[in-house]
Amino acid sequence: MRDHNLSVLGSTGSIGTQTLDVARRLQVPVCGLAAHSNIELLERQIREFRPVCAAVLQEEKAAELKERVRDLPTKILSGIDGVCAVATLPQATLVFTAIVGIAGLIPTLEAIRENKSLALANKETLVAGGSLVIPEVQRRGLELIPVDSEHSAIFQSLLGAKRPREELRKILLTASGGPFYGKTRQELSAVRREDALRHPNWSMGAKITVDSATLMNKGLEMIEAMWLFGVGMDQIEVVVHRESIIHSMVEFCDHAIIAQLGLPDMRVPIQFAITCPEREQTPGPGVDFAALGSLSFGRPDLETFRCLSHCIRAARMGGTMPAAVNGANEMAVSLFLRGKIDFLQIDELVGAVLDAHSPIETPTLRQILDADEWAREYVLTQYQVR
Ligand code: NAD
Ligand code: MG
Repeated sequence: MRDHNLSVLGSTGSIGTQTLDVARRLQVPVCGLAAHSNIELLERQIREFRPVCAAVLQEEKAAELKERVRDLPTKILSGIDGVCAVATLPQATLVFTAIVGIAGLIPTLEAIRENKSLALANKETLVAGGSLVIPEVQRRGLELIPVDSEHSAIFQSLLGAKRPREELRKILLTASGGPFYGKTRQELSAVRREDALRHPNWSMGAKITVDSATLMNKGLEMIEAMWLFGVGMDQIEVVVHRESIIHSMVEFCDHAIIAQLGLPDMRVPIQFAITCPEREQTPGPGVDFAALGSLSFGRPDLETFRCLSHCIRAARMGGTMPAAVNGANEMAVSLFLRGKIDFLQIDELVGAVLDAHSPIETPTLRQILDADEWAREYVLTQYQVR
């Protein structure tokens, strides 16, 4: 297995803690940790992994953490500069980007500037900033390993291909359908926060769990796949597969299909990002096909789950449009989680931004961040007038 030293951005979250579970089991050293504000957990992580450096976004929390770990040599940093310092640590050989939302974009770009290999979980970074991230990764010849289960599956399915770009016909992106699969808009108007936070197959952070319920997550993943695998929207087909056993598939020019399967457990794609192209043991059982009996497939309902069609439209328009739509969704989900809007307002607000935004074609970082900021403000004014 490769000798890695990890920097984990978003270490206190769902992907971050599972990344540390894998690091603990494989005995991979961790040199950097960064998080938003959960210093109780961060302190425990620092005591266990003894990183060179740890960063907390919130300044006051960073000061408190510094006090708590005074007995240790770990350097405590704060703010966005601190997070970027963790992303660019000289010791780091693989940077896990597991921050949620567009907040992950700047640290990711900083890591790229230092020629780091990346294990990318933070899909919003590619959705908003793919036009900056991907050309720079290619120009520098860096490794960019997807952690999102579908994209890891596609990545693994393409590993044997000699000429993937030429031979790939389409990507079959599987979707569980989320907790509200089969429901009508009438039924969705009554769903509560607790219902949306109950995903049938995966346990994840709150934002992505709501995105899975609206199917925004699948829309974001279509855009993520476009950037990662250099395909157009018309080469990606979303297939509803309720059991989440097939994590995604690729169809080649001869109609042969290769898929990656397994029980839904994010530690598998996380571990593969660390060990690839090799594999290591994992504990627990594998898939028992006879016990499953059958697997089901269907089409997504784009009429009911409008966030998915909004993402498809945004991707076709390109430029700053995906950043605006992503920003609108981040704000709308945050309002939903705080009980300020109801479930169906999420896709209405995302749709309103899609209609109102005039995209800039080949944006700079500033223009991407401005589109995000504008979309958030727009959502705030729109929801207040309702
Ligand atoms: P989460 O909310 O559980 O964790 C987010 C982490 O980011 C936390 O450690 C938090 O402290 C940190 N964070 C948030 N804002 C920050 C900021 N401004 N600066 C520094 N740190 C910040 O989220 P998650 O479910 O772990 O998801 C993380 C990313 O991975 C998301 O982009 C998500 O779409 C993607 N992803 C998650 C899963 C999953 O199973 N959870 C699967 C696929 C992809
Ligand atoms: Mg996914």
